[in-house]
Amino acid sequence: MDDESLRRGGSIEGDRHGDWMVRLIPGGASAKVYRCPGCDQEIQPGTAHVVVWPADERGDLTDRRHWHSGCWRARDRRAPGVIRSRNAPRYG
Ligand SMILES: [Zn+2]
Repeated sequence: MDDESLRRGGSIEGDRHGDWMVRLIPGGASAKVYRCPGCDQEIQPGTAHVVVWPADERGDLTDRRHWHSGCWRARDRRAPGVIRSRNAPRYG
């Protein structure tokens, strides 16, 4: 998938961290396991999710991240510094 086709399918969402390109990935288009930065859980193949990258780095998609749709929408509720202490213990 080239940069241009990714961009065409995305929309821009702004929040207090900046502007983000957000693209919905249908479940059928997902063939790999990704790790969601929102919950630190894996996104299994076949799961509809979103891919997000900074809108101000349009030429560089290496920063894109795959999120569960719900985790992306809920990201503002996860203030840094609060997340870790509320998390269940991590194993491994
Ligand atoms: Zn998640």
